[in-house]
Amino acid sequence: MKILVVNTGSSSLKFQLIDAKKNFTELYSGIVDNIGKKNCFFDAKINHTRIHFKKNISNHEKGLQEALKIMLKNKAVKSLKEIKAVGHRVVHGGEKYKNAVKITSQVKKTIKELYELAPLHNPANLQGILACEKLLKNIPNIAVFDTSFHQTMPQKAYLYAIPKEYYKKFKIRRYGFHGTSHKYISQETYKLLKNKKAKIITCHLGNGSSISAVSGGKSIDTSMGFTPLEGVIMGTRSGTIDPAIILYLLKKHKLSPEKIDEILNYRSGILAVSEISSDVRDIWAAAQRKNKKAIFALEYMAYSIAKQIGAYIAAMNGIDAITFTAGIGENAWYLRKDICEYLNFIGVKLDTAKNRASKPLISSPLSKVKVFVMPSNEGLEIAEEVINMIK
Ligand code: AMP
Repeated sequence: MKILVVNTGSSSLKFQLIDAKKNFTELYSGIVDNIGKKNCFFDAKINHTRIHFKKNISNHEKGLQEALKIMLKNKAVKSLKEIKAVGHRVVHGGEKYKNAVKITSQVKKTIKELYELAPLHNPANLQGILACEKLLKNIPNIAVFDTSFHQTMPQKAYLYAIPKEYYKKFKIRRYGFHGTSHKYISQETYKLLKNKKAKIITCHLGNGSSISAVSGGKSIDTSMGFTPLEGVIMGTRSGTIDPAIILYLLKKHKLSPEKIDEILNYRSGILAVSEISSDVRDIWAAAQRKNKKAIFALEYMAYSIAKQIGAYIAAMNGIDAITFTAGIGENAWYLRKDICEYLNFIGVKLDTAKNRASKPLISSPLSKVKVFVMPSNEGLEIAEEVINMIK
């Protein structure tokens, strides 16, 4: 049974065709990027072959049309009828969706109502849904929400200490994001530990980064909050800061809300601390050349992440495993080393060679806490959720 997984951003459409019958093998995957812009391109992998070309594609529907055309041309499927369902990554499901749902007009209405809470993502996600409904008729479309996995958080983790009316009226609370990734890597970690009750800290460290405390399979806390701006330092996002800084910039320095939004989302984080780049590869290259700003940025990142892990060890009253994933988590062995050094006091000990090689298990046999590195496969997780739904 073939499932199409679709993940749309404001100017991108990522797709994956997965054969659930063949152990969830990926048959075809790719991206249409810079949709509606001059530098729009198509990039895909099919049967170990890469297809890349530039083309002006004006909207998500046309992007999907192109992806389906190439899929047929290269015989990933003989007919579009082989696709039995589509799984959509939808960023915000609010408090309503604790699990994946079949998309109906009511679900689309709710996704729209949540535009306010995810203005960059939910509108694009709905575009992807509408395109699939139009081009792939009479098959179920399933929404898998980034926020769902964190709906198990207790009130003490998701409520902010502000008057209750703002939660009740405006739904201001911690939602958490990257839920599909945290769910996938925590489940993979449970399989490796062979202990369903284990206390795990999952570290999704990419352009956007979030850390979750997962106990007995349930998310009990997570570092991103009302929006994906809260938490640890990220590529260009500040992570947690004193909220009074915003008031100070507004009142004293007359910065507009739009300007502050731009500063905190696009000009902060690793980019601001290093004054070099938001990309850890550039920071590492500069640190090798003994650039002091780069060395400081790496120290800052390790400190920010280790502090959050420490907080979650206390929140769960213990820890069995830590798992790293995403661009930085999977590749930056030097950061994993620095982060884990902060955790020596509870017996975390890495195996130097395994950490350099990014093997799944990177802790030493002497370590009291197992440490893993693994790729997150959100597409696979979405396809599995789709299969569970349509069963
Ligand atoms: P993601 O959001 O998961 O795609 O992660 C993207 C980020 O991961 C990039 O901006 C880099 O900072 C980082 N990254 C990707 N590849 C590497 C690598 N080989 N070494 C260190 N950092 C990397």
